[in-house]
Amino acid sequence: MSTVVHHTTVVTADAGRRVLTDAALAVEGDRIIDLGPAEEVLARHPDAERIAGRGKVVMPGFANCHTHFTLTLNRGIQEDFSFPSTLRFPRAAADYLHPEEREVFAQLGALEAIRSGTTAAFEIGRNLDGYADALAECGIRIVLGETAADLDQPKAAREHVFEFNEARGEAGLERIEALHASHHGAGDGRISVAVAAHAPEAVSPRLLRRLRDLAERLDTIATVHLNQSWWEVEAVRDTRGVLPAEYLFQQDFLWPRLVAGHCRCMGTREVALLGRSRAWVSFNAAIAARRGYSPRIADLAAAGSPIAMGSDNMAEDMVEVMRTGLFMERVRTGDGERPTPDDVLQWATANGHRALGLEESGSLEVGKQADFIIVDTRRAHLVPAMRFVSAFVHQGQGRDVESMMVGGRWVMRDGQVVTMDEDRTVRDAERIARRAWRQLLEDYPEVPFPVHLDTAEPVWAGE
Ligand SMILES: [Zn+2]
Repeated sequence: MSTVVHHTTVVTADAGRRVLTDAALAVEGDRIIDLGPAEEVLARHPDAERIAGRGKVVMPGFANCHTHFTLTLNRGIQEDFSFPSTLRFPRAAADYLHPEEREVFAQLGALEAIRSGTTAAFEIGRNLDGYADALAECGIRIVLGETAADLDQPKAAREHVFEFNEARGEAGLERIEALHASHHGAGDGRISVAVAAHAPEAVSPRLLRRLRDLAERLDTIATVHLNQSWWEVEAVRDTRGVLPAEYLFQQDFLWPRLVAGHCRCMGTREVALLGRSRAWVSFNAAIAARRGYSPRIADLAAAGSPIAMGSDNMAEDMVEVMRTGLFMERVRTGDGERPTPDDVLQWATANGHRALGLEESGSLEVGKQADFIIVDTRRAHLVPAMRFVSAFVHQGQGRDVESMMVGGRWVMRDGQVVTMDEDRTVRDAERIARRAWRQLLEDYPEVPFPVHLDTAEPVWAGE
């Protein structure tokens, strides 16, 4: 059975950045099998299910190249306390979650991602096996970046003392191998497993080399948080005598299959080194703006780094990430014309998928995977839609996405997410988050917390 979306606008995000009007896109199985003028495509597929596309736009879904779904638990709180966080609790709210409760926040993140048009996400963190199955069921493509580090991180944060422990690093390597064995290729191939080094200050030269070797052996991509804060820059200078990107270069940890997240506190020499390596930069614009940072994206791109985008903590909305990224770069460079909306859309779609090793998704072309979203343009903030990409990057909202297909299967259709129980996930998340934060605040009444949290049991989200 094939499906044709017809008489619609198709934003291809292909190499020529073509936008086709009065077009149709045909899908069979997991693939795009036809694309072109509507009447011609319909004539070639007379028996296909027809979906009327007038007033709508079909475009590739977004690839979120750096996120932590479960940190949705901290939404509305940690956005306002900088990085590293100025909140000094000895534990995190996440420590108060049972394993099945942690799964709820992974689902909440995935739900928000789907609703705002993300078809592929790089989920980075520790012990991802606890919710990998739940993510496999949500229907989008997920790269699981299981994280390794050998630094005693609490001690480093507390005392600025950097102690590395070989057994801790080995345990991380074992977790990556185990997750790869159990989940790589799961969910009909939508799940893949990658190698994640936490951050330059948290990984010794020995562990960096072991992680690079593991990525080569598993034939997978890798990631690292890079030049995220001035605290990190200072820590690496103190312990290694060089800057973070220089340290990774020295340890042969910059290569084209690495996704370097953030890249915001960087010196000129580091920009050049990273660019020459052709490692990907994940421009995590919205969180960077919240933290008061603005990475030198135009310089990184000019040096040779291909650019992708990510949301990082507490939010999964790539529409917001695209717009924030465009705004930030224009303000930073004082250039009212660049980057263009088409540049930013390419970062968030085709580039992002390539960064994640998903070469068969990210643009709408015959033979590629049927991964796309349908946006309804008949809204006050999107008309006139004569130049849709610009209108969408400047004015679009995540909620404008009404349908999503991944690998030929509907994930959301006409505003309904079909792979998850949305109502239950939202209720559970509200109730559990209030309890976890309430417990944290009760356990540490002496820790300064300069905001008021309403942690009362919410009536609407009762069990
Ligand atoms: Zn991160």
